[in-house]
Amino acid sequence: MSHVFPRHTALAPPVAVGGEGCYLIDAAGKRYLDASGGAAVSCLGHGDRAVIDAIKAQLDRVAFAHTGFFTSEPAEALADLLVAQAPEGLDRVYLVSGGSEAAEAAIKLARQYMVESGQPGRSRLIARRQSYHGNTLGALSAGGNAWRREQFGPLLLDVSHIAPCYAYRHREDGESPEAYGRRAADALEEELLRVGPETVMAFMAEPVVGATAGAVPPAPGYFRRIREICDRYGILLILDEVMCGMGRTGTLFACEQDGVSPDILCIAKGLGAGYQPIGAMMCSGQIYDAIRDGSGFFQHGHTYIGHPAAAAAGHAVVSALLERDLVARSAAQGDRLRDALEARFGQHAHVGDIRGRGLFLGLELVSDRATKAPFDPARKLAARIKSAAFEAGLICYPMSGTIDGRLGDHVLLAPPFIIDDAQIDELVDKLDTAMDRGLAA
Ligand code: PMP
Repeated sequence: MSHVFPRHTALAPPVAVGGEGCYLIDAAGKRYLDASGGAAVSCLGHGDRAVIDAIKAQLDRVAFAHTGFFTSEPAEALADLLVAQAPEGLDRVYLVSGGSEAAEAAIKLARQYMVESGQPGRSRLIARRQSYHGNTLGALSAGGNAWRREQFGPLLLDVSHIAPCYAYRHREDGESPEAYGRRAADALEEELLRVGPETVMAFMAEPVVGATAGAVPPAPGYFRRIREICDRYGILLILDEVMCGMGRTGTLFACEQDGVSPDILCIAKGLGAGYQPIGAMMCSGQIYDAIRDGSGFFQHGHTYIGHPAAAAAGHAVVSALLERDLVARSAAQGDRLRDALEARFGQHAHVGDIRGRGLFLGLELVSDRATKAPFDPARKLAARIKSAAFEAGLICYPMSGTIDGRLGDHVLLAPPFIIDDAQIDELVDKLDTAMDRGLAA
């Protein structure tokens, strides 16, 4: 009997014993092409010597020194590196252990900033229905994923959820992508006016939506309009790049492609690339200064913030991304994978949309391409495709995400940036097999 909690499947999962580049290997010697990097985590692939050596070297020096007393060389070096690369104005870094922690820290920082800058009435957050920001209570409140929130209702924060930017379903016939982007962003202003802008502290969104909807990019101009609205009404813009950041979309930060800079930015997953649990919240000097000149410190913290071994991993990962030119590779291989997906599934009767940026791509599955009707959730199509793919030696991330408030099926692909052309072919072949088997079941 396994004492590991939780066990999601009736059958015991295989034991992972090895990782080499784009492959994971189980105890029986079976190799799996890792086409989702867990969930967009393993940007460097498995067994990266430079990262492993950096962690070991740090453990040999000092494994842990509490941030209440010390800083550490890797934490300082990582923060310097992130600030040097980050969008304009983000010049402070708070290191945490993962994505939910980064989201929690962001929400609390926004609130403390409002209190300390003399705007205590601003406590409400506005976020989007099709979004995921983590599983801790604050982050879960911000997220719009109905089934994840369902059972926890009374404990959650008060958050308004507006419509996502979701061109495949919400752009009207004849409406240009730009006009749609503007209309979708204007939903924020409408909500602000409905609830009273003086009660709102921040708007929070993923630049490219991941876990709820399979790599949905924003329409052109959407985030520039969002930025304008935030500025006009004095609310902070929090961007959650936990999944889509760190080169995944073909630029180090996803929001670079939208020409905006947030006030607070969350990153995780690819930052540690799976080698250590690490995330970060970055914020503007304006927010930092208000708190420094006010109460003096951010009223937050966890035992393992700024952990030296995790920071050493993060620093080695970001260095690898920059020194090996892997962000450009994510963009180039992303184009190749997208072309291959278009060629194989572009006319598929049950693939409604192929979308995404860089090596962050999604397929939306529909029962009917003309009506865009999703499959009946009782069919559990995403789960079937996931297990058929796994059997065929492919790890992808099919999910029952949210489509306009109901469950729908998507496949998310987020392979390591080192994926080569032959592995892209292998991925598409295996996915094709898995789709056939999943749809036939
Ligand atoms: N934000 C986003 C956009 C995510 O995709 C996730 C994880 N899927 C999280 C936050 C939460 O991160 P973690 O699971 O590391 O807590």
